[in-house]
Amino acid sequence: MSELNLKHIKKVYPNGFEAVQDFNIDVKDGEFVIFVGPSGCGKSTTLRMIAGLEEISSGDLIIDGKKVNDLDPKDRNIAMVFQSYALYPFLTVRENMEFPLKIAKMPKSEIDARVAEAARTLGLESLLDRKPKALSGGQRQRVAMGRAIVRHPKVLLMDEPLSNLDAKLRGQMRVEISKLHEKLGSTIIYVTHDQTEAMTLGDRIVVMSDGEVQQIDTPAHLYDYPKNKFVAGFIGSPQMNFIDATIEDKGGKVYLKLSNGDEIFVGDKRGEMIKAKGYKNGDTVTLGIRPEDLSDHPEMIEKFSDSIAKGKVEVYEMLGATSNLYVDFDGTQVTASVDPTSKARVGDTVELAFNYDRIHLFDKDSGNNILVDVDPATGTVIVEDEIDDDKTQIVE
Ligand code: ATP
Repeated sequence: MSELNLKHIKKVYPNGFEAVQDFNIDVKDGEFVIFVGPSGCGKSTTLRMIAGLEEISSGDLIIDGKKVNDLDPKDRNIAMVFQSYALYPFLTVRENMEFPLKIAKMPKSEIDARVAEAARTLGLESLLDRKPKALSGGQRQRVAMGRAIVRHPKVLLMDEPLSNLDAKLRGQMRVEISKLHEKLGSTIIYVTHDQTEAMTLGDRIVVMSDGEVQQIDTPAHLYDYPKNKFVAGFIGSPQMNFIDATIEDKGGKVYLKLSNGDEIFVGDKRGEMIKAKGYKNGDTVTLGIRPEDLSDHPEMIEKFSDSIAKGKVEVYEMLGATSNLYVDFDGTQVTASVDPTSKARVGDTVELAFNYDRIHLFDKDSGNNILVDVDPATGTVIVEDEIDDDKTQIVE
């Protein structure tokens, strides 16, 4: 069992800088949790406080029911894998993996068994007698992971473990880490600034910005129900489009008027939510729409005929399965991931249908998502009807 609770964890560095403010999470046994956010948001500081490498300024860190704030790193039964593999260059792969167990004075038979098990799990059996300089980057990273897992730690911490690898290898290692988690069933906390890594690996993701936790949720919920504009913009690639708009109430039906004069009907469900939240005719808001929820396909144009905006195509990218159109809406650049059969090309004026079941709306001042409800006690987003929304994509 290895549960972890962070209760009101805070870090103030000696120079007075508040790197982490009021971090709360209950990590379940075997859970894979990702801390993600831009550089400097405090994710490594939080991880290092869990490892015991950084002092906790206030709050409680609890592992398996026991407060460990003042426990030495070596007594926390936590292993950490860093961005730099930090392997001993003069030791072989086997010796590198044996090292932490020898330090712990484990009997030789047990050391042999654990190293053999880790080598099997990580596919390192044929490399055990090589020195690190004779390994590829991915292989070295696997040895670094092997050195962590031989200890059978309660919790495995990883700080940007893949960022030294090239894009292809990163993709492969991502899959390997997923498999490793499946095999070991261990609790993992993983730090990255890469939203793709976060979305593909995590059971749950903690999105951080400026030392503050913005939202803790599953990848699917973060994508579909971002709590605010920061989370909406950080999660998803290509990024969500943000467009300034004014609310128009036309006989009870809510539209969003864009600066080019086009009007987007938001559907009855969202219209009622907007009114219930107290927004009224003439209020300015930020409309959020993901690139895949914009379409120039005739069927979508027909289906969402009251939610269409026109713009000029500035860039066209053919990606194979989809095409990206970069469209100028009166000064706002919008990305649309459209069907590859789209005929739109640079210089054309294109009509884009907004799938109104997938529209997000943010308050201009606070940046909060108007269309999600947040539990005031826990700060978590309440999701009641997640299978209700229409994610129709037309592919011919
Ligand atoms: P990165 O992805 O760049 O590593 P991060 O989110 O992991 O970023 P941290 O390393 O946790 O960020 O740092 C959080 C903030 O704390 C940063 O603004 C950093 O400059 C600051 N910081 C880190 N160490 C110290 C220190 N010893 N004294 C003062 N401020 C520090």
